[in-house]
Amino acid sequence: MSLIGHFIDGKRTCGTSTRRGEVFDPATGRRTAEVELAGAADVAAAVEVAERAARTWRDASLAKRTAVLFAVRELVNARRNELAELITAEHGKVLADAAGEVQRGLEVIEYACGIPSALRGGFSENVSTDVDSYSLRQPLGVVAVVSPFNFPVMVPLWFVPVAVAAGNAVVLKPSEKDPSAALLLAELFAEAGLPDGVFNVVNGDAETVDALLDHPVVRAVSFVGSTPVARHVYQRGTANGKRVQALGGAKNHMVVLPDADLDLAADAAVNAGFGSAGERCMAISALVAVEPVADELVARIAGRITGLRTGDGRRGCDMGPLVTAAHAARVRAYLEAGVAAGAVPVVDGRDVTVDGDPNGFWLGPTLFDRVTPEMSIYTDEIFGPVLSVLRVDSYDEAVALVNANPYGNGTAIFTNDGGAARRYQHEVEVGMVGVNVPIPVPMAYYSFGGWKSSLFGDLHAHGADGVAFFTRGKVVTSRWLDPRHGGVNLGFPTQT
Ligand code: NAD
Repeated sequence: MSLIGHFIDGKRTCGTSTRRGEVFDPATGRRTAEVELAGAADVAAAVEVAERAARTWRDASLAKRTAVLFAVRELVNARRNELAELITAEHGKVLADAAGEVQRGLEVIEYACGIPSALRGGFSENVSTDVDSYSLRQPLGVVAVVSPFNFPVMVPLWFVPVAVAAGNAVVLKPSEKDPSAALLLAELFAEAGLPDGVFNVVNGDAETVDALLDHPVVRAVSFVGSTPVARHVYQRGTANGKRVQALGGAKNHMVVLPDADLDLAADAAVNAGFGSAGERCMAISALVAVEPVADELVARIAGRITGLRTGDGRRGCDMGPLVTAAHAARVRAYLEAGVAAGAVPVVDGRDVTVDGDPNGFWLGPTLFDRVTPEMSIYTDEIFGPVLSVLRVDSYDEAVALVNANPYGNGTAIFTNDGGAARRYQHEVEVGMVGVNVPIPVPMAYYSFGGWKSSLFGDLHAHGADGVAFFTRGKVVTSRWLDPRHGGVNLGFPTQT
């Protein structure tokens, strides 16, 4: 049984904690490794290394920093298949999906290669006679990144390239369920020439995260995970004086208006509902059908589900297993609750035949019709392959339903009516909106983030928000003295 440790000061290392987590191959159910769960002492050791590295890295020229990032881009690109295989082995998502995740992470590395433009300040000559003003953005020092199980490569890459390019040192705490890909990422950054200690990985769990939240040297925390933990991280981190962006859970609605192309809408609902077994924060889990299209739409979605192959992600299947046995059992319990509450299971994932080891953590795609807003399959984030159809009579009813939901991560509207789409993007209280695009994940040069219970904090991930998050602004007012500037004057400085 291999033991997965940490990556600190440029090398793989073991910590002092004796606590361990278990890592599984979800497609076989086999335990493949143990992972160290760091305690406060291991966190302190990593933060000390990062603090030392941050002091010199902040002075590395922009040319040096971007040279490293260009090299990281080449290495991640060259090793993308290996990264995808590591993701599939511990997360379970199918290889093509894992490769897509690596691609979206690469795009943030590419964005960070352009950090000199993003860090450019402003300059105003002669704001007063012979006085100039200009603005700078400077790194924070040591920052922490805490990531969830469902994107072991992409989510760390939402933050690490931007943080490092801006001159910070990072301590990443990946999910203990699939920790291996983060260690390979750290090795690739080191191989690209990043100085030792600038990017560290400390594996662990809640105790590890709390140690990061309490450590006085950690200046900022970027967190992605479920809403209760995001709220906790935001509260504890900000109470300790840190800057925190904490991205939480989701319940994403796809509204289908009567004029939509129902075949395209059905394709989109299946792709966005069941891709990655629904374990995506941007998955569509609630389909809001504006009558009279529900019967027809449900039939077309059900037909497509029947053609999906659930099985081992290494065998070219459409959908893989769930991440752990416990999570599969939790999702199964929701299916039972849905049936008990009166929802109609048009396709029941419990009956699935899989192309894989019978010991894997399997559950097939489930389609529930006639779901109502008080049912737990609607109110809760299930985070599994479960698509719920809610029927409404009008656009107004649809938008009211979406806006009443506490989450506000992503949403989509399917229609051929430009006016309706424009009204929806204007009225909906959600951070990322798709018009005939079911998973509207912004490109790296925009920023990713939801509203309401899907994000605690002010700044979203990557793009301009990411740069703002990982830097502090400073404004300099400067005058090069000559004898004309003498004289005593206690008045408040104003322009002259
Ligand atoms: P999780 O909240 O259980 O864990 C996320 C991270 O927090 C992990 O690193 C974990 O070790 C740590 N953690 C867990 N419990 C903790 C606690 N009590 N205190 C401190 N740290 C703790 O989430 P998960 O199951 O790994 O990921 C799935 C969740 O993440 C879903 O809710 C999903 O919607 C959300 N997610 C959101 C986004 C987004 O952009 N909004 C993106 C991906 C995933």
